Amino acid sequence: MAKLYFKYGAMGSSKSAQALITKFNYEEQGMSVWLIKPSIDTRDGQEIVKSRIGLKQFADVILPDDDIKLRYEKFDSKDVIIADESQFFTPEQIDQLRDVVDEYDVPVLCFGLRTDFQTKFFPGARRLMELADSITEIKTVCTCGRKATVNARIDENGNIITEGEQVLLGGNDRYVAMCHKCWSNKIKLQK
Ligand SMILES: [Zn+2]
Repeated sequence: MAKLYFKYGAMGSSKSAQALITKFNYEEQGMSVWLIKPSIDTRDGQEIVKSRIGLKQFADVILPDDDIKLRYEKFDSKDVIIADESQFFTPEQIDQLRDVVDEYDVPVLCFGLRTDFQTKFFPGARRLMELADSITEIKTVCTCGRKATVNARIDENGNIITEGEQVLLGGNDRYVAMCHKCWSNKIKLQK
């Protein structure tokens, strides 16, 4: 039986690289893969999934109003679905992916963040935690050596920001993964 997978990790934990390597492995076995990525704004079309180690591939962009199951049925009925940045799907879209797994016996592998810069769930990540058959953490380390779990948002001077919108458009270089202890210590020192 196919499964819904949620593979989460903090910023910089090589989720995109893992997604692309997984795609390659499936394709090497002769299976077709639909690589998708949610749009956090309204741009349509294709976007690139790229990792810091240089791997990149085009992905189909899913808009917030898209019905992923309908789209899968009509156009993209591949053997496997791999999604990057899955935290930005709506909860309804995670339900649609769940239905694809159940009705078509197609594995769906969702890579993404668990929580935002305030340590709160992204709605899509919460729904994945509720519905996934398999939940695994892709680990990365803080500068102190502990496991990094917090996606700290920083300003141009490197200070941690704790207020603001959940999504900062185009702000990927504004995040640092750190452990909770370093995160809260740094916030205390800033005061
Ligand atoms: Zn630390």
